[in-house]
Amino acid sequence: MSSKEDLKKLVCEIIDQRREKIEEIGDKIMRSPELGFKEFKTAELVSGLMEEFGIPYQAGLAITGVKGRLKGREPGPTLALLGELDSVLVPEHPLADPETGAAHACGHNAQIAALMGAMMGLVEAKASEELAGAVVFFAVPAEEYVEVEYRISLVRQGKLGFLGGKPELVRLGHFDDIDMAMMIHNHSNPNMKKVLLGKSSNGCVVKMIRFIGRASHAGQSPHRGINALNAAHVALAAIHAQRETFRDADAIRVHPIITHGGDLVNVVPAEVRMESYVRGKTNEAILKANDKVDRALRAGALAIGAEVEIETIPGYFPLTNDPRLSEIFKETATALLGKDEYADGGHGAGSTDMGDIAHLMPALHPMVGGALGRNHGADYRISDKNLAYLVPAKLLAMTAIEVLYGGAEKAKEILADYKPQMTKAEYLKHQQAVFKTEIYDGETGKSMFNS
Ligand SMILES: [Zn+2]
Ligand SMILES: [Zn+2]
Repeated sequence: MSSKEDLKKLVCEIIDQRREKIEEIGDKIMRSPELGFKEFKTAELVSGLMEEFGIPYQAGLAITGVKGRLKGREPGPTLALLGELDSVLVPEHPLADPETGAAHACGHNAQIAALMGAMMGLVEAKASEELAGAVVFFAVPAEEYVEVEYRISLVRQGKLGFLGGKPELVRLGHFDDIDMAMMIHNHSNPNMKKVLLGKSSNGCVVKMIRFIGRASHAGQSPHRGINALNAAHVALAAIHAQRETFRDADAIRVHPIITHGGDLVNVVPAEVRMESYVRGKTNEAILKANDKVDRALRAGALAIGAEVEIETIPGYFPLTNDPRLSEIFKETATALLGKDEYADGGHGAGSTDMGDIAHLMPALHPMVGGALGRNHGADYRISDKNLAYLVPAKLLAMTAIEVLYGGAEKAKEILADYKPQMTKAEYLKHQQAVFKTEIYDGETGKSMFNS
């Protein structure tokens, strides 16, 4: 029987002894990046390690997820430690996959290395004999919201329900037996403290937009065409005109791009495609801003007499870090690294599907350094393997010990008066309701809807 602090110390020593193996995992994944819902090699690496360390697991969850479980000596709450399997798409990154352009340009490789490191530490220290409940090691697919058209095609084929990994895992019930969850994301800001724990971050909905006009000779007979690019241009201006109505407190971000602007220069553009996110601090604010964006898109079609097809797809929920898990994490991080290496953050304008999880259970999403370069940029690289791989492994394992040690008193305390922002049923209903396709005809001013 070891004390809580002795157990933490032992786990950290084991993680240090396993340094080479953990670094190898992180480096190997860095060199074989895979996009979301296609992380087959990375998932296989994870399941192989779970086998090696005697962790019973399920694989192929939401296509590529791998979920292992370390049971404590008595029943109690389950804490999931998460690591994201997927990469982003940065073809110019030196370690990008030459075929797909996938690259680990925001450090998810470090998440898996840390998750596996935490697993090794807890298993080899025989932590299960000192803990109640269970620790779930969960390698999850598709955090990055990319390849939207491909994923929509999987939804149409019935292979996916949602376009993000964690929402899909929730839908399939793989979070039903989990009571709280945490993960650690990498950061690459040299001006930031080594460990940063924010309060919250934005959620989003995703828009796929198609303006449909009529082709015609651009020199001889533009009057016989309907210029879809001009409709998109008016729509973009109308979106920008909304910006003064966005309240600072709502942290709205709307950032549309044109992905197809026409076909031939001497043909009036008959089809223009756009994509956008609408992000914000609350679901209410996101949906309100989204309505304004829809109005602006219709305005473009109306002005030119074009048609616009607006597809709205559920993105991610806003994230709020659980205050009590935050407190425990802060104590753990300062105990490991000292007060000077830790900072409390505020609200972040990016989005993660950890926000979805945070609506259903206490959740935590801090950031740890160890990288340099621009997030999602070609110069992103792991610069300090100890900080990127080993420190988060220790922080995950130490936090797990802190909440589940003995009779898992701390976890029980957190859960005793915790009220989720939504039930799973409410969550699924909300997200399903976001799915909407509107076809607006600028000539008649009429809309058709498909859900
Ligand atoms: Zn990212
Ligand atoms: Zn990321």
